[in-house]
Amino acid sequence: MMFYQLAFAFIAGVLLTTVIAWAQMRATERERARTESLFLSAARERQALRQGARRATAMLEGVLAAYPRPVIITDRERVILFANPAALALLGLPAEQVIGRSAAPVIQDYDTMRLLVRAARLGAPSESVFQRVTTGQTWRVSVTPLRLGDDESVTDLALTIEDLTELRRLETVRRDFVAHVSHELRTPLAAVKLLAETLVSALDRDPQAARGFATRISAEADHLAQMVAELLELSRIESGKITLQLEPTDMAALIEVVLERMRPLSEERGVALVAALPASPAALPDALCDGERIGEALVNLIHNGLKYTNPGGQVTVSADVIDDEGAARDQAESGTLPTRMLAIRVADTGVGISDEDLPRVFERFFKADRARTRQLAAQADPLAERQAPTQVGSQAQAAAGTGLGLAIARHLVELHGGRIWAESRLGHGSVFSFTLPLAPSSAQTRAELSDMPAAERR
Ligand code: ADP
Repeated sequence: MMFYQLAFAFIAGVLLTTVIAWAQMRATERERARTESLFLSAARERQALRQGARRATAMLEGVLAAYPRPVIITDRERVILFANPAALALLGLPAEQVIGRSAAPVIQDYDTMRLLVRAARLGAPSESVFQRVTTGQTWRVSVTPLRLGDDESVTDLALTIEDLTELRRLETVRRDFVAHVSHELRTPLAAVKLLAETLVSALDRDPQAARGFATRISAEADHLAQMVAELLELSRIESGKITLQLEPTDMAALIEVVLERMRPLSEERGVALVAALPASPAALPDALCDGERIGEALVNLIHNGLKYTNPGGQVTVSADVIDDEGAARDQAESGTLPTRMLAIRVADTGVGISDEDLPRVFERFFKADRARTRQLAAQADPLAERQAPTQVGSQAQAAAGTGLGLAIARHLVELHGGRIWAESRLGHGSVFSFTLPLAPSSAQTRAELSDMPAAERR
């Protein structure tokens, strides 16, 4: 009995030990599997993190590459670590000559360097707008300190540059334009007011003089109306609101029509107005243009010719085909053939334009020195000096313009893809010329053109 009890206890002990050992083994295995899976998931997490970081870097680089403004990143010591394509373009240097170099000799700008030093020292963003001494450009530079380490200290500096030069230029143009318009409107308005006051006081005691004042008020009002009309026309052209009706145009016929229109002014001014065109109409091919708009440009040029030429002088309008030199230069660079263009010239024997004023005549509101022009007009015509003051006044008035006619003519010609320019000798006369593209000769191309939407043709 005792034996059986002992054997049973032994077997039970063995079984218990085995069960415990088995349980322990399972627990260790589970632990190992758990550790292994923890290890695996940590590795996966690390890989995901690495992938995420790579994607973020690629995204950031992509964004900075596409960012149109220059961005430069330097370390604390101002050694350049990164420069986006816009920054390389601004510096005019390849990446090899920028990355890894100290910012000072690369950027070559005292104000920018001062901002970098300041932002690093204060640990705060810094921004400044200044004009570069070297190039005269206006830059807005911003520096942002970056803290990429474990502590709060500045590790890097992000520099962005905005080139405000064009914006500043446009602001100045706009300010000048408003100032010019106000000035140009104020002068005739003041004249109208003064004349009206004098008219009132002259009505009873001197009706003859009163009539004169009324006529001058009417002339000033005409001048104001012309200026407002020209301003509206200029703004319509400049804002691209006009659509050209391009079609093959017989330039000789167009010139004749315009000359007829200008004939009364030519007679009033005592200035001959003639056309010098090839005898055979076939010698002058059609131009591809909007006849009405080109007629308008031609009127402005002829009007000036008559206005700035003294009685007894002459204004001659001519046209021929040329190899356009300006266009030819551009084409030589691009390797294509020079362009044959129709050139139209308006030549006068008038007062001429000084070398100093000549490059500026196509600017809006530009008017050459009126006193000198009048003096020259008087010199060119000895009769003018003997004229009564009122007559000289009316001559001066005839010469008073808005300074917009040539600006309009230039826009209209350039809209057609042509060029306009002036040559002149003070006291001898001026030649204003412009070019227009020739019309394609075949009927088929004409049909294609008329099918094309106006915007495309422009
Ligand atoms: P305006 O209405 O004053 O004539 P334009 O824009 O037509 O304005 O011309 C600008 C300036 O160019 C004129 O004020 C004048 O000084 C000068 N100018 C233009 N055409 C001639 C010309 N044929 N002869 C002399 N000066 C001219």
